[in-house]
Amino acid sequence: MTPSTDRNQQLFDRARALIPGGVNSPVRAFRAVGGTPRFVQRAQGAYFWDANGRRHIDYIGSWGPMILGHGHPAVVEAVQRAVLDGFSFGAPTEREVQLAEEIIRHVPSVEMLRLVSSGTEAAMSAIRLARGATGRSLLIKFEGCYHGHADALLVKAGSGLATFGHPTSAGVPAEVVQHTLVLEYNNIEQLEQAFAEHGDAIACLMIEPIAGNMNFVRASVPFMRRCRELCTRHGTLLVFDEVMTGFRVALGGAQSLYAAQIPGFAPDLTVLGKVIGGGMPLAAFGGRRDVMEHLAPLGPVYQAGTLSGNPVATACGLATLQQISQPRFFHALASRTRNLVDGLGEAARAEGIDFSVDCEGGMFGFFLLPQLPQNYAAVMKSDAPRFGRLFHGLLDRGIYIAPALYEAGFVSSAHTGADIAETVSAAREVFAELRT
Ligand SMILES: *Cc1c(COP(=O)(O)O)cnc(C)c1O
Repeated sequence: MTPSTDRNQQLFDRARALIPGGVNSPVRAFRAVGGTPRFVQRAQGAYFWDANGRRHIDYIGSWGPMILGHGHPAVVEAVQRAVLDGFSFGAPTEREVQLAEEIIRHVPSVEMLRLVSSGTEAAMSAIRLARGATGRSLLIKFEGCYHGHADALLVKAGSGLATFGHPTSAGVPAEVVQHTLVLEYNNIEQLEQAFAEHGDAIACLMIEPIAGNMNFVRASVPFMRRCRELCTRHGTLLVFDEVMTGFRVALGGAQSLYAAQIPGFAPDLTVLGKVIGGGMPLAAFGGRRDVMEHLAPLGPVYQAGTLSGNPVATACGLATLQQISQPRFFHALASRTRNLVDGLGEAARAEGIDFSVDCEGGMFGFFLLPQLPQNYAAVMKSDAPRFGRLFHGLLDRGIYIAPALYEAGFVSSAHTGADIAETVSAAREVFAELRT
């Protein structure tokens, strides 16, 4: 046998010898869809080129951060300048203040915030803060929501309704998740039952308001209203995990959409990441001043980070937020995304494929199901092998979507009408193949 001339395969073989699964984050390994991961050589705008020099239209965008596309000139310039001034100081800088001001300006429920380096760190810290501020231990999480890989959050529902969870990862002791109640998303009855049984012991309820880690499932307005009411009544903190949706579905995040429909609505704490770093390791958690003041050095809840508020990352995030807060940015992004999902929906209908699709701002999701699912069990009714065929059909045509059916997609301001049209026509060909 002659050795493979596929550079992606060569790199994957080398990587697998040295890095578990060949990747530094599991989904990148293509396990759900099979085949060889694409090793990215470079990216520009809406495209990346893999190790074979093949161009792909990128609908992952680093799983959300690249809302301006890759290599936006204003962001590149800001990062280059920042690098010349130093990589990291472990001392405060003006840009941290500016980034805090910029975030708070757009997300009014956030009165104070702290910067960290990953969404995992932000969610984990928000939970410690919620527990420290309330003096309680229990937390509510919903099945199918992802909040990073902190131990207490790697948990699935036990048997029966509204029960304490079981670890979803080896290495997480059962005792660590015994304080985590796992509930079904969008299930008001279970939510009420959980609060009726445990209400005054629940420190926080953490939720992805649009669950991008179930592809794309919205929390219904009545469900969210009930979450807010029950949290308020029981002194439980409502924590919005907007790592994915923040500055992505709207400038004010998903919470601005609920606030438009539920008078006076606001979460108590918000977790942010992805877009606020513009592709650099940067995340944040923030919210009510009286809660945030429990954090060290003001209060007794400890939290720290050597690279927190990193000067290069804050430059990248600030430049990104400055671009996306320009007038009509979100309007244009949302209509481009809408064109994509409408086109995909029409293509599926024309080929007689069961298909449902939704989007908000620059985030979208689709299912090979006749109706949009409302919870994790419904998402899991998707036909995985069929999704794998769709994924590879698109990949063969240079269209790169998430290699797993429970992941959202992202459109950037660099995607053109021609990119969308190319994607839709490729999708129609693949749908035709799926029918046979
Ligand atoms: C990506 C994500 C996280 C984890 O962020 P990392 O930076 O990968 O640690 C947490 N919550 C949500 C909703 C996410 O989408």
